Amino acid sequence: MAEHKHEILPGVGCDVTGCKYNTVDCRCSAETIHVRSEKAETKGETYCSTFCPRGCC
Ligand code: SF4
Repeated sequence: MAEHKHEILPGVGCDVTGCKYNTVDCRCSAETIHVRSEKAETKGETYCSTFCPRGCC
């Protein structure tokens, strides 16, 4: 699935400033996001698999 910069995902706030999709107003500019961890029972066990470090991909 091709991922590229898009408009802004409405309703998605994100503080992960190291992600290339993160915007200056703490929102997400990815086309879609996917939250992983099928067996998660706490917030900390979930993660955004769409995360991509700035400058890496
Ligand atoms: S892709 Fe995930 S980690 Fe990156 S800005 Fe969007 S919600 Fe945050």
